[in-house]
Amino acid sequence: MSVVDRQEWDVVVVGAGGAGLRAAIEARERGARTAVICKSLFGKAHTVMAEGGIAAAMANANENDSWQVHFRDTMRGGKFLNQWRMAELHAQEAPQRVWELETWGALFDRTKDGRISQRNFGGHEYPRLAHVGDRTGLELIRTLQQKIVSLQQEDFRETGDYESRLKVFQECTVTRVLKQDGRVCGVFAYERESGRFFVLEAPAVVIATGGIGKSFKVTSNSWEYTGDGHALALLAGAPLLNMEFVQFHPTGMVWPPSVKGILVTESVRGDGGVLRNSDGKRFMFDYIPDVFKEKYAETEEEGDRWYDDPDHNRRPPELLPRDEVARAINAEVKEGRGSPHGGVFLDVSTRMPAEVIKRRLPSMYHQFKELADVDITAEAMEVGPTCHYVMGGIAVESDTAAARGVPGLYAAGEVAGGMHGSNRLGGNSLSDLLVFGRRAGHHAAEYAAGRSGARPVVDDVQIDAAAAEALRPFSAEAETEEPAGGPPENPYTLHQELQQTMNDLVGIIRREAEMEQALEKLAELRVRARRAGVEGHRQFNPGWHLALDLRNMLLVSECVARAALERTESRGGHTREDHPGMDRTWRRINLLCALTDPTGGLAATDPVRGQIALTRETTEPVRADLLALFDKEELVKYLAEEELYE
Ligand code: FAD
Repeated sequence: MSVVDRQEWDVVVVGAGGAGLRAAIEARERGARTAVICKSLFGKAHTVMAEGGIAAAMANANENDSWQVHFRDTMRGGKFLNQWRMAELHAQEAPQRVWELETWGALFDRTKDGRISQRNFGGHEYPRLAHVGDRTGLELIRTLQQKIVSLQQEDFRETGDYESRLKVFQECTVTRVLKQDGRVCGVFAYERESGRFFVLEAPAVVIATGGIGKSFKVTSNSWEYTGDGHALALLAGAPLLNMEFVQFHPTGMVWPPSVKGILVTESVRGDGGVLRNSDGKRFMFDYIPDVFKEKYAETEEEGDRWYDDPDHNRRPPELLPRDEVARAINAEVKEGRGSPHGGVFLDVSTRMPAEVIKRRLPSMYHQFKELADVDITAEAMEVGPTCHYVMGGIAVESDTAAARGVPGLYAAGEVAGGMHGSNRLGGNSLSDLLVFGRRAGHHAAEYAAGRSGARPVVDDVQIDAAAAEALRPFSAEAETEEPAGGPPENPYTLHQELQQTMNDLVGIIRREAEMEQALEKLAELRVRARRAGVEGHRQFNPGWHLALDLRNMLLVSECVARAALERTESRGGHTREDHPGMDRTWRRINLLCALTDPTGGLAATDPVRGQIALTRETTEPVRADLLALFDKEELVKYLAEEELYE
């Protein structure tokens, strides 16, 4: 039997990005003793990398903006597959969350009259992104961290212990959410540096672990994005929603190879940058889809006038939602009109004076200068699509962020599904983190308070099983049991094969035969990953960490491939070459992935023997007053026939 440290908390938040920190602050402020646990150093979450800004209809830059317009843009961007109640709450509450950040010390860029400055972004009708140059995520995390420290100082004054009510466990990885009698009872985790196991017992757990990009070869995401939270939820019995929707950001760096995939922020286009092919043509004018025709400029002159006079001109098509721009770039490269390194050209140098570029896009200036020796004030950048964000995620209740089917489990941020439908608009993630992070913390704390008379105790059997699972890579050669028998495997080789498979066969343009091939390969990798072996010991051993992360990436990748194969239409971040159009009948359908065991029991916990089962579910009809925000002619493009009739 394993002897592991146990600690008791009311709420455990897994993840210290924007969603996790906002959840933790809320839970602690509502009286819950709260633990935050994160894989990397405190403050080094993915949120730090966010560049462009936070979308919130504060109407600082255009007084016509309102939550209703933001809601409309979000639903259009998601091609109406959004969980509409989430989109409504998000649009309504985002401004409060930004103002609240300011009261906690965030220093946003200002307008001339001293209000928070807001910039243009793809798919947003008005300038809506509150920002700090192109380093907004850093300021967001700095502010939330500072708030956490101030709460800890308050606790110190009352209890003499900074960590009595709010404690951060950094550089620790959670490998299992534990359950007792069908309810959450805590998490099993290990310290990355020492390899020491420990258990945090708690009636409520908030998952806020971010995305899945490391399953793909070319990605803007960092090493942490291995789909852990998605897999933890699956293994705990909670379904994932619409995992086929993966966002390929149109503009990642393409050269040199060592930096391929690193993001080039959408602010470059929001601030006036244009896309050209090798013939020098601004090709986006050829790619405006019918659903957006009335909203976008038809000529370069009109598009250019829009920057100064947005009320009397339509926006340029470089600012179409990301899925449209990514597909257009892909098509240009395929037609042989790409740049020398397989992308297209993104140019600000001919659009703005050098000092304006350096002031408004300082990170981009340094990124290209240092990584590619390109001076963006004098020459064009080369860019191409990169795997950036996952719209699919843990299926949650819109108001409470409670994960479906597992009492005590909550999810917020990129790991949660529903909010963004089939495609996320830029800037809508940072606001999502704050709105639903707060809601998750609130409801988790409330739930934990309601269970205070029945504190969960984690039984030893579960701890032993979690410890054995985590230790398996050290005894891979002893693994002979079917179906996993065979020689040990190198986790790095398995990871590379997985990334190549997802990139080539379930990437930006998808085909039935290729996805079937991907599923076969994933099944093979899942069996081989059971034998992922490492040498040495548990003290900081990156190979071991990767071997454990592989379980998660493989489960999540299978969900993406299965759902992508099932959805026989193209919508948002899911493009089928064999089903190129958006099919209105599919608007009514959500796809749910659950882990079942082969004997038919639900919520299997064995990642190699359990199988991903996919079910269809009818989406909830959009509330009438929200539908009334759209023109009837527009709704006809999106809604299924029977919905229009209703
Ligand atoms: P994260 O910030 O990634 O936090 C995840 C946390 O979970 C981390 O602390 C990690 O250590 C922890 N974790 C993961 N697995 C485990 C585990 N097993 N155990 C313990 N801890 C774990 N969005 C916008 O709205 N505007 C932008 O301008 C913008 N720019 C972006 C630029 C880049 C380069 C990228 C990559 C993304 C950008 N996005 C932007 C998207 C946005 O940044 C992310 O979607 C968002 O930050 C996700 O936040 P999160 O809190 O959900 O997750």
